[in-house]
Amino acid sequence: MKTCPKCQKGKLEKVDDITLDIEKHIFVVAGERCVSCQEEFPYEKETQKTIDIARKLGLWPESVKLQH
Ligand SMILES: [Zn+2]
Repeated sequence: MKTCPKCQKGKLEKVDDITLDIEKHIFVVAGERCVSCQEEFPYEKETQKTIDIARKLGLWPESVKLQH
């Protein structure tokens, strides 16, 4: 397993219940969560898929950029 890039000590475990809150709409995606600090790291393709959906729904301003 990978070590959390945020706290540098926790391990990342696979989860499929990460919630992304986009303009008050909750999307659930798969990814990894740190067992120590609870930071969530959704898979990039899952995030991208969610953004595509959000854009179609008109929820995601074009100016917003994801941070990686
Ligand atoms: Zn962590």
